Amino acid sequence: MSTKKQQQEESEILAGEMCPFCHEKKLVLMDMKKEIPFFGALFIFSMDCSGCGYHKADIEAEKQGEPSKYTIELSSEEDMKIRVVKSSFATVKIPHVGDITPGPSSNGYVTNVEGVLNRMVKQLEIIRDNAEEEEESRKKAKNMIKKLHKVIWGQEKQKLIIEDPTGNSAIISDKAIKEKLKVTKKIEE
Ligand SMILES: [Zn+2]
Repeated sequence: MSTKKQQQEESEILAGEMCPFCHEKKLVLMDMKKEIPFFGALFIFSMDCSGCGYHKADIEAEKQGEPSKYTIELSSEEDMKIRVVKSSFATVKIPHVGDITPGPSSNGYVTNVEGVLNRMVKQLEIIRDNAEEEEESRKKAKNMIKKLHKVIWGQEKQKLIIEDPTGNSAIISDKAIKEKLKVTKKIEE
């Protein structure tokens, strides 16, 4: 028997599956188990179609936590390396900048703080570059992008909040404050 620590990563890939959207056999399904330090085992699923560009990904913790809210005060470039686990049900709040909200097209992923901020930058760039948006909101988006770049370079402080009613998300740092998230039931329309 080997004394070497067993690698906790297992993955399964199915290629050439029928895509439910373009009906071409170009869908790749991936299912992976990954060990995240100070978090535990995580299952990562993804679907990618090279035919139509469809992409869906999500994560699920092996040991699911309770609905939670993580808050962190970002104050240095070093903070950008902090690992973030975000499920498709999580809401990312960047106070005074914007939110990344869950929805049918939202994805789950493992990233770091910089990755989260860059996703927000991309979201703002779409507004900034959209000629149909009002001049005022385009200008605001442009200023927010500038602000986020300063945060990424460690020149400006910024709060980052991740709320997940499914308890699958986390900001993995001693600096992060974890609270129980009060889950309000959605009112059916
Ligand atoms: Zn497709």
